[in-house]
Amino acid sequence: MSDVAAKPTNFLRQIIERDLAERLNDGQRFAGSPGDAAHHAQGPIDSAKIRTRFPPEPNGYLHIGHAKSICLNFGLAADYGGICHLRFDDTNPEKEEQEFVDAIIEAVHWLGFDWNAGGVSHLFYASSYFDFMARAAEALIDDGLAYVDEQSADEMRATRGDFNTPGTNSPFRARSVAENSARWAEMKSGRMADGAAVLRAKIDMASPNINLRDPAIYRIKHATHHATGDAWCVYPMYTFAHPIEDALERITHSFCTLEFEDQRPFYDWLLEHLARLGLLATPLPKQHEFGRLNIKGVMTSKRKLKALVDEKHVSGWDDPRMPTIFGLRRRGYTPASLRLMAERTGASKTNIWVGMDVLDGALREDLEGQAARAMAVIDPLKLKLTNWTEVLPCRAPVHPQRPELGHREFGFGPELWIERDDFAETPPKGFFRLFPGNKVRLKYGYIVECTGCEKDADGNVTAVLATVLPDTKSGTPGADAVKVKGTITWVGAHDAVPAELRLFERLFTEDQPDADGRDFRSVLNPASRRVVHGYVEPSVASCAAETRLQFERHGYFVADRVDHRSGHLVFNRITGLKDGYK
Ligand code: ATP
Ligand code: MG
Repeated sequence: MSDVAAKPTNFLRQIIERDLAERLNDGQRFAGSPGDAAHHAQGPIDSAKIRTRFPPEPNGYLHIGHAKSICLNFGLAADYGGICHLRFDDTNPEKEEQEFVDAIIEAVHWLGFDWNAGGVSHLFYASSYFDFMARAAEALIDDGLAYVDEQSADEMRATRGDFNTPGTNSPFRARSVAENSARWAEMKSGRMADGAAVLRAKIDMASPNINLRDPAIYRIKHATHHATGDAWCVYPMYTFAHPIEDALERITHSFCTLEFEDQRPFYDWLLEHLARLGLLATPLPKQHEFGRLNIKGVMTSKRKLKALVDEKHVSGWDDPRMPTIFGLRRRGYTPASLRLMAERTGASKTNIWVGMDVLDGALREDLEGQAARAMAVIDPLKLKLTNWTEVLPCRAPVHPQRPELGHREFGFGPELWIERDDFAETPPKGFFRLFPGNKVRLKYGYIVECTGCEKDADGNVTAVLATVLPDTKSGTPGADAVKVKGTITWVGAHDAVPAELRLFERLFTEDQPDADGRDFRSVLNPASRRVVHGYVEPSVASCAAETRLQFERHGYFVADRVDHRSGHLVFNRITGLKDGYK
């Protein structure tokens, strides 16, 4: 167990702590794999104190909201001596693909979580429960709790009623058990067309909760499933499948987002009946809803993210501006920063909105103590030191607070690269960097005094001129005798390495790009990606892809995991050094 006391509490933690205190799941048996009541009855007492699950539908790439759910479910299980299952909710035959299954597995691992515990893998596929689900449907039919409805979809919609009006009973609702069994067999046989009938739970067409007005639990779909092929032509509805999946896996705490709150009565109705009929082990799982995590300026709808990719507003699913886990990874965010963000944003009973600054803050906290430092010049301007001819070796710590990480080396030569905006021919008020007559320190090097600049025919500054003040080298005795107000970063023109620097801003100019039916295309930020060609100090010339570092004064960068290679350095700016969120 990790240190729970050190973590901020939230209502989900309180629920778990209450249930543990009440010993709600003590003595619960788990047979080592999912199964029905009989299966678990012959298993040992579950060594897991709680069981949670992350249940993605493998129909797309995971995004930052899923990261929240992953961290929450795996994190809570780890904190309370439990196990979290990774379950692919692959009950819909048409939308799921192996590509997404693989990508989800990779993303969960990358975030630092694992579903193996005690030598047992807790990676499950809902489609492997199809046999049980059909059996459960038949048990409901036999018990008079389900019927085959052959109204058209339009008729069913019309008789469902709405918030103000109760529904009305289907003419098929009074069918006998024998007739329902026969019609269900017909549904399964393949002889009925898609939509010709559905199996419905028989609950209450007048319930104030519309989800209890005889919800459909099985439909006909002549479709090939990625795992079960053509074995089935009837498929369970999500609202029927999900509670059963939880129960077969002996999940204790089924956490889901708020929109499922109205489904909870059906969740309990279904599981209680199936337990009563002897199909499911007790105690049954309990569903608890928490508020979604929404990020300002970020859109997470799968369909809209797909449009961004298809219409080439971004370079792909892993574009560093995408809120997908692969996009965040390529941008350079660390698994620890995402976990920290998830923890900081807690769990509440209302949907929460935060800015990307929460993730950026978490990233800085993660990298501050470990990222190697280096100098880089993003918008290079030549600095000519007119009284200097040699190349003098300079040293700087890899990390200012961690001497054990050693030093980096580079040369102080007669020509250097500095940032274009570190020079002003006529300085604005409060400008302490280079302007004629002013002195600044070149970090780790000497103090120089600016003497002027060179210009091209159009009057653009092409080089800055300065002289070196002797005996002012950083770290040498007397170096501080001359006082300066500004220190600037630089790289040596003789040893700096050219690098492509990719600078990102938010993808949308609005906090809710797709709010109120707005077309998100109208609020794309045209300046969300800027590619510049600068120089980096030689110490980073051979860094591997995905190395994260801090370019002094500029922020945290990562060597791009796709395009960066030796001889072609590409760095993505993850975030600046300070909170620049507006
Ligand atoms: P989306 O529609 O946003 O792509 P989804 O709910 O359709 O997401 P699923 O694969 O069903 O995708 O989601 C898996 C789990 O992740 C669900 O339990 C869901 O509630 C949770 N989840 C999705 N988005 C968020 C979010 N923004 N905050 C917290 N949990 C989320
Ligand atoms: Mg969903």
